[in-house]
Amino acid sequence: MSIVVLSGGVGGARFVRGLVDVAEPGNVTVIGNVGDDLEVLGMHVSPDLDSILYALADLNDEERGWGRADETWQALATVAELGGESWFRLGDRDLGLHLVRTQALQRGESLSTVTAEFAASLGLSTQLLPATDDRLRTWVTTPAGEFTFQVWFVARGHRDEVDALRFEGAGTARPAPGVLEAIESAELLLIAPSNPYVSIAPILALEPVHDALAQRSVPCVAVSPLIGGWAVKGPADRMLARLAGCTSPAHVASCYPGLIDALVVDEADAGSLDGLGDVRPIVTRTLMSDADARRRLAEAVLGAVPA
Ligand code: GDP
Ligand code: CA
Repeated sequence: MSIVVLSGGVGGARFVRGLVDVAEPGNVTVIGNVGDDLEVLGMHVSPDLDSILYALADLNDEERGWGRADETWQALATVAELGGESWFRLGDRDLGLHLVRTQALQRGESLSTVTAEFAASLGLSTQLLPATDDRLRTWVTTPAGEFTFQVWFVARGHRDEVDALRFEGAGTARPAPGVLEAIESAELLLIAPSNPYVSIAPILALEPVHDALAQRSVPCVAVSPLIGGWAVKGPADRMLARLAGCTSPAHVASCYPGLIDALVVDEADAGSLDGLGDVRPIVTRTLMSDADARRRLAEAVLGAVPA
């Protein structure tokens, strides 16, 4: 069965890792968010694509949730010593990837080509596509002003409440080669347990991607990133409360109007399934605490979808 997953970084990468353990990895295409991308120290960094790549290649740091395992930070310490830009944490091992990607982009290669080359070099058969090769950047409007995603998230520790989001470039950015084809030929569409507002919305802000999902003829299933109304990590719960009014499964589903047929929710939310309307709830344990838990979640998702 060919499967397409829309994914952000941490939650998305964990989910995708479990998915390729239970589905044929070569049949899975991951469409990754690039709204978080940034230029730092002259390098192009794609944090969400890298989280997915590292998780698929078993190079990721499980505890931290992003970056590489066995990481060291010597280069960044030097940057700080010299008064350079050190707010965005880039580890020594991680740096190698950013260097190669930046050089390839400067040579004129597309982000999707570089990403495919990385996946091949790491021996992956899963296809990882950036949502777009064009520039798309998430901006966050807060009471303290408008910030780029990473300034809000990393530099300011996502402490500012969010009033609105803007996806710069989304109006003209084209889906990367293969994105629409993958969605249109998929037998199952999945939305990972990623932040709906800052990880999935930037992908859906590409109108052709949104429309391809809206016009699907196969099931689309989202996995909720909330457990008992709380985010496992990060600001998704606070954002949902402020922007959607509440953190119930129905409010999570409301982030994907007309786009999903089912929502996977945690057992902790089994008592608050009101208001889902046409969206079928699939109740299971959704905490991906280890490889077994990740696999069980993927099995539950695949098992709930008619073959
Ligand atoms: P980011 O791009 O690194 O911020 O990562 P994502 O947007 O892909 O994932 C962030 C979301 O993942 C958060 O809202 C978390 O609540 C969610 N998340 C992380 N781990 C788990 C888990 O084990 N289970 C579920 N259901 N959600 C998780
Ligand atoms: Ca992200």
